[in-house]
Amino acid sequence: MTEHDADTDWVGTDAEDEPTGPVPVLAVVGRPNVGKSTLVNRIIGRREAVVEDRPGVTRDRVSYDADWSGRAFTLVDTGGWDPDARGLAERIAAQAEIAVSLADAVLFVVDATIGITDADEAVVKVLRRSGKPVVLAANKVDDQRTEAEAASLWNLGLGEPYPVSALHGRGSGDLLDAVLAALPEPPPLPEGTAIGGPRRIAIVGRPNVGKSSLLNKLAGSERVVVDNVAGTTVDPVDELVELGGRTWRFIDTAGIRKRVKEASGHEYYASLRTTTAIDRAEVAVLVLDAEQSIAEQDVRILQTVREAGRALVIAFNKWDLVDEERRYYLEREIERELVQVQWAPRINVTARTGWHIDRLVPALDKALEGWETRIGTGALNTFLGRLVSEHPHPVRSGKQPKILFGTQPTTAPPTFILFTSGRLDASYERFIERRLREQFGFVGTPIVLQQRVRE
Ligand code: GDP
Ligand code: GDP
Repeated sequence: MTEHDADTDWVGTDAEDEPTGPVPVLAVVGRPNVGKSTLVNRIIGRREAVVEDRPGVTRDRVSYDADWSGRAFTLVDTGGWDPDARGLAERIAAQAEIAVSLADAVLFVVDATIGITDADEAVVKVLRRSGKPVVLAANKVDDQRTEAEAASLWNLGLGEPYPVSALHGRGSGDLLDAVLAALPEPPPLPEGTAIGGPRRIAIVGRPNVGKSSLLNKLAGSERVVVDNVAGTTVDPVDELVELGGRTWRFIDTAGIRKRVKEASGHEYYASLRTTTAIDRAEVAVLVLDAEQSIAEQDVRILQTVREAGRALVIAFNKWDLVDEERRYYLEREIERELVQVQWAPRINVTARTGWHIDRLVPALDKALEGWETRIGTGALNTFLGRLVSEHPHPVRSGKQPKILFGTQPTTAPPTFILFTSGRLDASYERFIERRLREQFGFVGTPIVLQQRVRE
């Protein structure tokens, strides 16, 4: 873990991504151990990104909200590469390829104390070919003495190397200024769309469940506008699709339409793509193959959506293949595997024929409405008061925690802060969440409950 003091947290975390407008994506690329995670930690000003001394540790979370000088961007850490893979240079080049395909700009990190290696050269080739903007970070320049070594990185032909110390924070302001200059300006809103821009949707799910079939059906029947602004020169990342008379932004359709090159470690990259898409979206559509059992991978994606705090719709595809017997088992699977997301609207569709895909928009609307629901402080406290008097918290070692006051400071997802006289049990928290949903709806959205305990 990187420890840093409040005064070196030079990037605020208060740029909670707004439910409006897409945010550009910056991918952090480089060999293992050059300090990518340390740098990510530094940029987001948190200790979330796990830094391990052991190279090649797969990190659970790969993308983060960041901001600098009031501009928000999404940061993708590609550090969790597969250590057993053959050919280091090839693996890293492949990693860079994926990163480049999903990002608007790349932050390439090199260890200045070691200099340029073959693996670095391999990355440079990929970056040059991509045509995406690259910012070169010469890391581990902890003091003046190592600055000369950073200068030798001009030889990479990627422009000015920015000497930084991810560990101590040195030089990072200049680096981030360069990053901002490299990131595209947010694209102008298409004509005729409401303020806030088109809603952002991520279609996610395991391979072969029918994501691209669904996208093709949705986009095929209506006008499709390929949005070249955000995706820059190489890959149009997102597509604007008109559904139900409105424009929607489908995130990372390049990744859905074009299979990412099959390679060892493919699953990691697929999950990186999924996580990034979810982070950039407002609402996720999890596509499941209704004919197949709900798998661990599906549940993992649901977990990602919940943790990211995005709205959710579940689409059971290939309904044409579901018979009476399968239906019986599917209902049981739903009860067992989807308890955590009982609140998500579910639709049954057949992407192949287009059957019921008109039900997607109403489901998206419902989920987004729940996601943006705000309960006034008065109504919330009336509700809490009644709940507490009818079902008081159980007494714990002679004490009974009380809820003093509640407030919902934010939506998207709805977030509640409960001021209490003692820590509430997890089961009581779940009870409150259940009651909140009964009373106020919150269809299609996770709910965040936070406690502030008054000692
Ligand atoms: P990654 O594999 O590229 O994500 O690298 P890590 O962020 O895990 O860092 C690898 C090692 O380099 C860790 O032991 C870090 O503490 C160390 N490190 C990272 N940045 C710096 C730096 O600026 N200066 C020094 N001296 N060490 C650093
Ligand atoms: P993706 O990998 O999730 O994008 O899945 P695809 O859209 O490529 O679909 C995988 C396979 O499932 C293809 O052979 C599709 O033709 C088939 N498929 C997709 N939707 C349906 C459906 O609604 N019914 C049936 N029977 N097959 C489907």
